[in-house]
Amino acid sequence: MIVKKLCKIVGEKYVSDGTAEKYIYAQDMTENEPCQPQVIVMPRSVVEVQAILEIANETKTPVVPFITGQNVGGLTIPQVEGAIVIDLKRMDKVLQIDEEAMYALVEPGVTFGHLRKHLDKHHPDLRYTYPLAPPYTSVVANALLQGLCDLSTRHGAMADFVNGLEVVLPTGEVVRVGSGILGEENWFGRYPLPDLVGLFSGWQGMTGIITKMALQLYLKPPYIEHAALFTFGEQNTTEILKNIARKQILDDADCMSLSLVKMLLGVEYPVEALKGEPDYATLIAVSGNTKIEALEKIRVIEEEVSNAQSNEPRHLLVTWDAITKLMGEQAQSWIDFPSDAFKILTEFDGLTWVGTYIHPKAWGQALAGGRKIVEKHGFELMAFLKPMNGMHFAEFKFIIRFPKNSEKIEQVKKCNSELLDYALDQGAIPYKTSVWAAKKLQERIDPQFIELLRKIKQTLDPNNIMNPGRWNL
Ligand SMILES: Cc1cc2nc3c(=O)[nH]c(=O)nc-3n(C[C@H](O)[C@H](O)[C@H](O)COP(=O)(O)OP(=O)(O)OC[C@H]3O[C@@H](n4cnc5c(N)ncnc54)[C@H](O)[C@@H]3O)c2cc1C
Repeated sequence: MIVKKLCKIVGEKYVSDGTAEKYIYAQDMTENEPCQPQVIVMPRSVVEVQAILEIANETKTPVVPFITGQNVGGLTIPQVEGAIVIDLKRMDKVLQIDEEAMYALVEPGVTFGHLRKHLDKHHPDLRYTYPLAPPYTSVVANALLQGLCDLSTRHGAMADFVNGLEVVLPTGEVVRVGSGILGEENWFGRYPLPDLVGLFSGWQGMTGIITKMALQLYLKPPYIEHAALFTFGEQNTTEILKNIARKQILDDADCMSLSLVKMLLGVEYPVEALKGEPDYATLIAVSGNTKIEALEKIRVIEEEVSNAQSNEPRHLLVTWDAITKLMGEQAQSWIDFPSDAFKILTEFDGLTWVGTYIHPKAWGQALAGGRKIVEKHGFELMAFLKPMNGMHFAEFKFIIRFPKNSEKIEQVKKCNSELLDYALDQGAIPYKTSVWAAKKLQERIDPQFIELLRKIKQTLDPNNIMNPGRWNL
């Protein structure tokens, strides 16, 4: 019955309960257990989304919003049998670019590649911010997941870029939040209002389906300079990183264990650390209205490195000019986001990580402790730490790539579980939180917070149709 009704709404071509489609939508690249939906539907308009949710609500059928399923947290795998997966890829319009207030209004199917191309072609002075994620992933989903991109060191997590949104509630009503409540072309911000973006951001599709989102753009700076900082030891590395980040001159800083750099250079799996090589490499980006301004920022960084060398003389700052001379065009591809760099992470069908946001006091310990756990389990060392929002916190994770249908999967689960326990001990909060991770978090946090989540969910979604089971709710 449901399949027939869905066909009536979007047309037969965009509904499938075929075995192959159900198999694909049942899983992602992580170690999380698969679960097949009963049907997949691909709406094209807000009215269609509304009609689908009305049927789901009437029949109490669970619904999972999906765009490309690349969240690396198992977040589009249904947690209960019989779900409708609503794949929003066909809602892929850039609806408005406001050059003056600098925002883009986009549908959920707009990808990073898509937005970059649109801006470069029609609004070349403006830029969005881009992740290491594949260019075919969704801008809206990334913002809803509070992810991180190449302006996050300066401006914070992606939810901070959201000016407002339009959402279809589980009960079928269409609602807007943010300044867009006053008119079609008025999405300049979300204040001064009760900040209801929070009812949808971080909820993993449990409170409604976002059909439009306004996101902040930035002017492309006329001058950008890059450099690579090679450092030794976890405490030394994070101390120098903090000292640089505190200068408030960074656009972006990605600190990676050296193995990640070696992967980019083509070293084969599994990448191993060699004795005497630096432990970490940090890719740094600064910008300026003049070349002198940008270069002066690099000079300030050089000064910090020089101060740190009194403690660890092997630290080394290499300018991007030198790296380009060494690596040619490849060097450019590493700094031009969305980049090809994601390909090294998706070399296998398995990819996972325990990602957290973490207090600066714990950065060094988190890197050192996590490293021991990863090495104990025999995985490649792929640590990643990005100072966020002008250094108020960092994103921190250990990445694991693995062949999925192998005995490694149990080892992956054990390693991730230990990594999360260790991160929680450091006061870190997991992001893009898998159900297993949410369970662990819930054992430690204020129970009133969970109670509040339940109350909000119950109010917005009385029949609990939206992505039930997520966040272990
Ligand atoms: C190699 C690799 C590198 C990555 N690097 C980064 C990185 O640097 N930074 C980063 O932040 N992320 C990164 N990611 C994670 C991920 O790709 C992004 O967060 C991505 O933008 C998610 O988009 P998606 O289309 O895959 O969303 P999906 O996985 O399809 O959806 C994500 C979540 O949002 C919900 N959802 C989707 N659409 C809606 C909607 N319209 N309304 C309500 N809920 C919705 C889904 O139910 C799900 O819970 C990386 C992933 C990979 C594979």
